[in-house]
Amino acid sequence: MRAAIIEKIGDPLVITEIEDPQAGPNELVIKVKACGVCGSDLHATEKHAPMPFPKGTVMGHEFAGEVYEVGSELKGKWKVGERLTALPYISCGNCKSCIAGKREQCRQLRTTGLGDIPGGYAEYTKVGAFESIRLPDNVSYHEGASVEPLSVALHAVKKSNLQAGEDVLIIGAGPIGLALAQWCRFFGARNIIISEKAAGRLKLTEQFGVTDVIDASKESNVAGSFKKFTGSSPKVVFEAVGVPGLLQECIGLAARGGRIISVGACMKPETFMPIIATMKEVQINFVLAYNKEDFEFCVAMLNTERVVAETMITDIITLNSLPDAFEALRTPTTQCKVIVEPFA
Ligand SMILES: [Zn+2]
Ligand SMILES: [Zn+2]
Repeated sequence: MRAAIIEKIGDPLVITEIEDPQAGPNELVIKVKACGVCGSDLHATEKHAPMPFPKGTVMGHEFAGEVYEVGSELKGKWKVGERLTALPYISCGNCKSCIAGKREQCRQLRTTGLGDIPGGYAEYTKVGAFESIRLPDNVSYHEGASVEPLSVALHAVKKSNLQAGEDVLIIGAGPIGLALAQWCRFFGARNIIISEKAAGRLKLTEQFGVTDVIDASKESNVAGSFKKFTGSSPKVVFEAVGVPGLLQECIGLAARGGRIISVGACMKPETFMPIIATMKEVQINFVLAYNKEDFEFCVAMLNTERVVAETMITDIITLNSLPDAFEALRTPTTQCKVIVEPFA
């Protein structure tokens, strides 16, 4: 099959032929119908990324597709042609964590598109039956591929312990920032302000429940702007960019006793002044991923149109154009979520 592989960290991806995936007994091979390009893939392939993926890695962990091959243990449970999205890992089902229902902490976890199993920047990938969720007719492949970032944001908002009526600041209006805004509205935030440097992205914010925007390319006093809109400082600050310096900025911006949720995957050292955080008694939370319930909830909410995903997709590209598009995303201008359609 055709896939976009990492040839060398720091160089553009390369389109090449690799071996087709084979379904294990409890696995499904799927035809990738849509795969989102994720900011963490961009971070992980920067020249000096601390945890570079090995040569030959196929990234792509936000995908939806159609069942192409059914594992031997799954006959009668899954059919060729069924539509699904899946968590980007396969758990063993037998270890202590799996038996305790914490599949995401499986001791033999194999990630998909994150170094172990070749991911969705390819024509085919494979998924675990346990990790797969059927897509209702009403949920498109594009929406199916958006379940992963929606789940990241859902998990982060749950971890923030957001209370109805609280004011929120989100740093970064990328796909995760917009998804965060949407869940903050869902859970009853009062003011949802988003700060973003790439002006093109600010146009999308309104549809996601953002009440006001701060154009950080023009406005350096984010704290002052927030106060102008809301009369106070944010109780909850989400960091959804992942570059050094932002944690310090979030500490400065948060209200006394505020909560800072670090969602952006920063892969460089960060320095901050603890005393400022101490004086305000802020809490800083680092959050990772999601579980299967989060995925199922996102699919259900997309199905009933209580959250949206299509409107954050700004570009749909072919596998052949992925290497160039991927490099272009390193300096975002107007793009938000880019979706690869390997069979388009
Ligand atoms: Zn992602
Ligand atoms: Zn396990």
